[in-house]
Amino acid sequence: MRASAEPARQLAGIANARVGPEGRLVDLELRDGTITAVRDAGAQPAGGAVLDVAGRVVLPGLVDAHVHLDKAHILDRLPPDVDGLPAAIRATSAIKETFTAEDVIARSERVLESLVRRGVTTVRAHAEVEPGAGLVSVETHLALRERWADRVDLEIVAFAQEGVLRDRRTAELMDEAMRLGCDVVGVCPYADVDGTAAIDDGFARAEQWDVPLDLHLDFSDDPAVHLVDDVVRATVARGFEGRVAVGHMTSLGAMAPQDAQRRIEALAEARVGVIALPATDLFLSGRGVDRAWPRGLTRVLELIDAGVDVALATNNHGNAFTPVAAHDPLRMAWLTVLMTHAPAGRWADLAGAVTTMARRVLGRAPGDITTGATADLVVLEAGVPSDAVLVAPATTGVIRRGRWRATAPVAAPPALA
Ligand SMILES: [Zn+2]
Repeated sequence: MRASAEPARQLAGIANARVGPEGRLVDLELRDGTITAVRDAGAQPAGGAVLDVAGRVVLPGLVDAHVHLDKAHILDRLPPDVDGLPAAIRATSAIKETFTAEDVIARSERVLESLVRRGVTTVRAHAEVEPGAGLVSVETHLALRERWADRVDLEIVAFAQEGVLRDRRTAELMDEAMRLGCDVVGVCPYADVDGTAAIDDGFARAEQWDVPLDLHLDFSDDPAVHLVDDVVRATVARGFEGRVAVGHMTSLGAMAPQDAQRRIEALAEARVGVIALPATDLFLSGRGVDRAWPRGLTRVLELIDAGVDVALATNNHGNAFTPVAAHDPLRMAWLTVLMTHAPAGRWADLAGAVTTMARRVLGRAPGDITTGATADLVVLEAGVPSDAVLVAPATTGVIRRGRWRATAPVAAPPALA
């Protein structure tokens, strides 16, 4: 199953790659896992192994900026009729004692394997921390981060899914998770007893450990249910600009345009990144009406237009929060076209939300295909750049730090010259 079983070959170059919104045809020179030159195609290739991708679209390595590996693929343990967000949290909580280390690793690797084969090279995963389950999830994520390091940068969020204030042992476990080596503090104000206090607690812990903060925030169809103003205020007050990401934000989609716009501008000013989770947001939102169901997504296009960095991420797979599974950020961009009424010309923005802009949401270098960038790339079965989002085509192969690995059987795979 594991991709590591396949040989990965170090490349000196890639010929005939179609890159950027205009689909410029280029040759890339690679050295020591870095892009060392980008030239118009047709120049004499560098010595060594050069992969001719024959005009296929090449994107920066994909990003899954928000995923729950530890509760993926558990439908066989849940009642078949779990209905809505509170019920999903309750039903999942009730089976957490079945999450052994071996079990979490097996289900997590099923998702990681698919993501990596799709072309994902950066993942932020939320590892659950709460007294019932202890640190099983954190410990397994730490092991996975090591085991998968040659294929993917795995960031671990220590995540208090059921709130950090309900049980004082949770705060102790959160600190222990950070001491063990988690990369990000994660809180869920809407699941806590006091959302504002949960936000304060999250900022204090992120400050204490000097790490970014990631919040599940404002997941409601009700425009009055939101804490975004508190998050923006705290971000500025604590000097956390550029280090805060907020996931869901569906209340922002429900607000009147002028109320939303004010907050969008504040998010841009405070450099808070937004992570939309289209599959879960579509599945769990719009349940209070009996016709013309709302889509339940945040204002993706307006946020991008205002200069907010936005990521589109997969979130959940095969559980009560999202019973379907699409281990595929490009499929989230494809879905977002439909959910936001995005004109076809917005495809490049949505591609950015699963590549370069998504990496900025995580506080990383964007990884544009330019000289000096890490050679983390994905080759798609497409010759037209917009097809990356509008078709979400199959992946031909992945280049991770200059090493090529074919990932999908294709009719005419490109040959190594
Ligand atoms: Zn989530």
